[in-house]
Amino acid sequence: MSKRQIAMVMDLNKCLGCHTCSIACKTLWTRQEGMEAMWWNSVNTAPGKGTPKNWEEMGGGFKNGKAQPGQRPTYEEYGKAWDFDFDKMFYGGDRDAALLPEGGDPDWGANWDEDVGAGEHPHNYFFYIPRICNHCTDPACMNACPRGAIFKRDEDGIVLINEDRCRGHRFCQEACPYKKIYYNVERDIGQKCIFCLPRVEQGVATACARQCPGRVRFLGYRDDAEGPIHKLVDKHKIALPLHPEYGTQPNVFYVPPMAPPDFDEAGDPTQTPRIPLAYLKSLFGDEVERVLDVLDKEREKTARGEKSEIMDLLISRKWLDMFGPFTRQPKTLAGTAEHRIHWKERMK
Ligand code: SF4
Ligand code: SF4
Ligand code: SF4
Repeated sequence: MSKRQIAMVMDLNKCLGCHTCSIACKTLWTRQEGMEAMWWNSVNTAPGKGTPKNWEEMGGGFKNGKAQPGQRPTYEEYGKAWDFDFDKMFYGGDRDAALLPEGGDPDWGANWDEDVGAGEHPHNYFFYIPRICNHCTDPACMNACPRGAIFKRDEDGIVLINEDRCRGHRFCQEACPYKKIYYNVERDIGQKCIFCLPRVEQGVATACARQCPGRVRFLGYRDDAEGPIHKLVDKHKIALPLHPEYGTQPNVFYVPPMAPPDFDEAGDPTQTPRIPLAYLKSLFGDEVERVLDVLDKEREKTARGEKSEIMDLLISRKWLDMFGPFTRQPKTLAGTAEHRIHWKERMK
């Protein structure tokens, strides 16, 4: 256990699937050589294969306290960047050449597995699920590293890789059940989300949270009783970890999606929610049923004109209230773009 634990809550009722978060992270942290296939923040349609492709079938994590065998995703499964034939488009007279990647029509891609979902019309359904490293309380990646290169910071619980100690064994990739460690082929090291360490250390919210136009992401410390994380996770208990059965105790939590009603064959709404409860239980555990019930009741309260702290929190009328103590404006950082300081230097 670290002394304190920083955490994130994502409200899946508000995610637009716009990928602003993915691009905010990509442009800030993963633009160097060997990082082409890295999406420390990914957003996928659920149900779907996810990123890396079919990651939920790859094992890892802990069961009854014992580390479980896991599979290492291939470079392609992480989502190799596509190549497009721009020469053909610009100089070959084929104006459509750059619309499809070379090699033909793909059936999957990182951050692309979009809007298919499951079910047949009129019972079809989907929602978006953004994912980052969970900065787990019991990180399977750290447990698996024979070099002691992965560590969890005592002051905030952020899990980091010391790149100078890493030798590219990739046991961490096998062990992480969320498959949130990426392999840099150029540098032969593992790399992952750093929870925007150089920003949060200076009171600035993570890029993925701050840039989110859907007001999906809350930030803060678990033990800050006045902050949004403590209220959503520990006080009201309406935010749940993804796949708690993986045994790593994630510190990213989700407010589960409320579903509109399903339709009957005549096209009229029924009492059955369109997203099957069994599917949500497979993601968030049995607790999800209680949470959905609480959300329904709180929504009814506000409809009657009564006060609901839960709905006020989730609606986030005051945007900066979502970020706990991390409200400092990025532009107030030193003119040298201090927040972009190479994160490698901060991980020793
Ligand atoms: Fe867009 Fe926010 Fe959802 Fe990311 S979390 S896809 S930024 S709405
Ligand atoms: Fe490690 Fe994976 Fe947990 Fe991140 S999500 S701390 S990479 S086990
Ligand atoms: Fe990327 Fe920072 Fe979000 Fe992690 S917390 S996914 S490093 S933007």
